[in-house]
Amino acid sequence: MGLVVQKYGGSSVADAEGIKRVAKRIVEAKKNGHQVVAVVSAMGDTTDELIDLAEQVSPIPAGRELDMLLTAGERISMALLAMAIKNLGHNAQSFTGSQAGVITDSVHNKARIIDVTPGRIKASVDEGNIAIVAGFQGVSQDTKDITTLGRGGSDTTAVALAAALEAEVCEIYTDVDGVFTADPRVVSKARKIDWIAFEDMLELAASGSKVLLHRCVEYARRYNIPIHVRSSFSGLQGTWVSSEPMKQGDKQVEQALISGVAHDTSEAKVTVVGVPDKPGEAASIFRTIADAEINIDMVVQNVSAASTGLTDISFTLPKTEGRKAIDALEKNKGAIGFDSLRYDDQIGKISLVGAGMKTNPGVTADFFTALSDAGVNIELISTSEIRISVVTRKDDVPEAVRAVHSAFGLDSDSDEAVVYGGTGR
Ligand code: ADP
Ligand code: ASP
Ligand code: MG
Repeated sequence: MGLVVQKYGGSSVADAEGIKRVAKRIVEAKKNGHQVVAVVSAMGDTTDELIDLAEQVSPIPAGRELDMLLTAGERISMALLAMAIKNLGHNAQSFTGSQAGVITDSVHNKARIIDVTPGRIKASVDEGNIAIVAGFQGVSQDTKDITTLGRGGSDTTAVALAAALEAEVCEIYTDVDGVFTADPRVVSKARKIDWIAFEDMLELAASGSKVLLHRCVEYARRYNIPIHVRSSFSGLQGTWVSSEPMKQGDKQVEQALISGVAHDTSEAKVTVVGVPDKPGEAASIFRTIADAEINIDMVVQNVSAASTGLTDISFTLPKTEGRKAIDALEKNKGAIGFDSLRYDDQIGKISLVGAGMKTNPGVTADFFTALSDAGVNIELISTSEIRISVVTRKDDVPEAVRAVHSAFGLDSDSDEAVVYGGTGR
């Protein structure tokens, strides 16, 4: 029996009862002969509450201090979990991200892991302990300051440790039974997926299916670490995410043509109005955005009005970066040369993901037909080889997701998808 890394999300450790339940589960794995490293998130909505608190004392909290504050959330759960395990008669030691050897760059609030040196974790499990690691945090190689990996970052901590420790599997325990064909909170008829390839999971995650973080899937694919997403509230098998299709009995599980529908309401749209239609304009807009270290998602440029020679360029970005983007563009207004800026945070994105899209020409038409039948107006469109995304009004998103899910025959005809806990924040 080898080493397993298990990650428990905030909803799984929301209160003392939850922590005791998780402790039992970890001890079970240990009794089955595994070495266990457990990565934990902050309890329940702690991270959101800490952010609210920070914003009450400062509208734009300093990144370094915000990271120091937020990492406290995971420290609380790791210590409590270690205590609960000891109470069950097993040895456990908790470690911060820094103690666990999670080394990052120095970009506060969204640091990237650049190395993992898990010497202390390895020594601890080799001595027979269960190691508990605080997720979502690391230490900057350059500044030696404490960093966080961005919202949902505990998933990445888990996979990075699994890779560094050469674990058999990385189990992600959450409040649903696995990865579904859509968010079960929106589509009660969503179906659990038994196996999904890294590529499709990457697109779903990038399109807003927050059950797994995009960076975590990227990391798992790079190091070929199989992920098992499952519920900490049930004993059911969850979803395997890996490179190779798995077998169920002697039956090979097939890759679905359409993997699922994702939605995202965390983005906003910026429109740069009245841009001269000449070479170099888009470059200087997006250079400005990149220099502010902002990642953008979709981009669209309108046809320019022949009479004025001016055009509009719209792009989407995380709402959390909205202020920064507007400030950066305003500062460069003279150099770029545009009339005005429009900011719209009442948008939502709906994406259909599936490898079958490459070879099936009707998919795009069916997708647009489903949206139009549901009376949903489309504002932006973008596609990749295996994904098609549209931006709509935010209020239209739930209806649009359900319509597309049904139109592609993804509705389950048996049981309703269960959500065990959490607030979905
Ligand atoms: P955790 O606290 O365990 O990290 P998250 O809230 O980050 O949990 O992720 C689990 C949630 O992801 C679910 O409760 C569900 O609402 C949401 N979700 C979004 N898309 C999907 C999907 N395709 N399959 C399963 N869950 C999804
Ligand atoms: N606690 C952090 C968050 O809420 C990290 C995580 O849960 O993965 O985003
Ligand atoms: Mg999560």
